Amino acid sequence: MTDLTSQADDMLLSVEAARQRVLAEIAGPVGSEEVPVTAALGRVGAAAVRATTDLPPWDNSAMDGYAVQVADLAGATELVPIVLRVVGEAAAGGQIGTLTQAGTVIRIATGAPMPAGADAVVQVELTTPLGADGASAGPRGRQAGGGLPAAVAIHAEVPAGTSIRRRGSDLTARSVVLAAGEEIGPATVGLVAGAGIGSISVHRRPRVAVLATGDEVRAAGTPLGPSGIPDANGPGLRALAAVAGAEVIDLGIARDQLDDVVARLRRGVAEADVVIVSGGVSVGPYDVVRAAFEIVGTVNLWRVAIQPGKPFAFGTARRGDGLPVLLFGLPGNPVSSFVTFEIFVRPALRRLAGHRAILRPSEPGVLLDRAAKSAGRRAYLRVEVERSASGAPARDAEGRLLVHLAGARENAGQGSHVLSTLASADALAAVPEALDDVPPGTVVEVSWLDH
Ligand code: AMP
Ligand code: MG
Repeated sequence: MTDLTSQADDMLLSVEAARQRVLAEIAGPVGSEEVPVTAALGRVGAAAVRATTDLPPWDNSAMDGYAVQVADLAGATELVPIVLRVVGEAAAGGQIGTLTQAGTVIRIATGAPMPAGADAVVQVELTTPLGADGASAGPRGRQAGGGLPAAVAIHAEVPAGTSIRRRGSDLTARSVVLAAGEEIGPATVGLVAGAGIGSISVHRRPRVAVLATGDEVRAAGTPLGPSGIPDANGPGLRALAAVAGAEVIDLGIARDQLDDVVARLRRGVAEADVVIVSGGVSVGPYDVVRAAFEIVGTVNLWRVAIQPGKPFAFGTARRGDGLPVLLFGLPGNPVSSFVTFEIFVRPALRRLAGHRAILRPSEPGVLLDRAAKSAGRRAYLRVEVERSASGAPARDAEGRLLVHLAGARENAGQGSHVLSTLASADALAAVPEALDDVPPGTVVEVSWLDH
């Protein structure tokens, strides 16, 4: 029934080798789709997007003030201003005017197109509005709104080009505003929309089906009875998958029975790109998940030198359309399932979603507590980062983060069943395989978690 020849029983794969084998099964991102820019937040561009227009599309005013011909301002000073006739008004969104006659100006609003013939804008603060009789029609520099004054006194010379935002000074038409593989954040949504683009091609979200297993596992709200425990992994893994950018399918909670697990797996394989199962992956009498993987597909690896994270299984199946489906069997202990999701599943989901960077950035830290660890395995400790009074992460003289074991103060411990320390952790701290003891002061590699 089970073909386990692909990995010798006594061989532990390193974290990196196991992750490579997972990623090797991913040919590329799942397909792409066209979506409105307004729905593209958090997605990944599938093709380069180019601006359809220059931005700004035409020269416009950077200030509220007066569009002028600078030759008319020669000699203007604070005390001896030059008086010019106001012949029109340029509003944002209005017609493009013309300024040809010497000695005249057009009142202009920020963002309004520059009138043809004008070569600068004098900001309103350098002007005083005047009535037809030449008397002041308002206070200095305050008349950008209200009725159009007949004339204006200009109290300074300005060079040509002053306060003009030139056509194309932000973007030129055809320039790339979104590269393939780039994640779309709020600024990119604004940029793409501002470049005149209504819809773009993005990678489809990978579809991820999540199955909890265990005769003792109960859905929230269901009575626990004498030996039940609430399902933490189903909701937790669905949340992790959603934050990683996936579309989530809930396969519920399977009994520890091969036929129940297989039936739910088949639904996952039919509908999803990735199926994540928690629990039942070990070698106990009720652990049927690996056998179920072998029925719907094949198991590629199952023993990794990671702590927590044992047992872990990875396999593949084929969907009806011939495309591969990744099968992850994660440990039932909630902390272990969370850590193995972080280390193996999240990078796979990011690759499927088309991200270029699939691993979290990490940085060195110094662990201030003592931790336990088995030799030969990479340990991932849940840690809280020390903070200064302002909340900024605290660092030592070499700039390394100062970290504590999460829950150390409450003595909650790092046991793989301890959910409370997971929620309080800021980051995972990786400890090298070679260490069999982790004394205070050990340098660890810290990667921040989503919160
Ligand atoms: P297993 O990997 O199935 O042997 O489970 C290991 C431990 O994790 C057991 O104590 C299970 O009760 C617990 N466990 C399994 N699945 C879940 C779940 N969905 N939510 C919370 N704990 C679980
Ligand atoms: Mg179980």
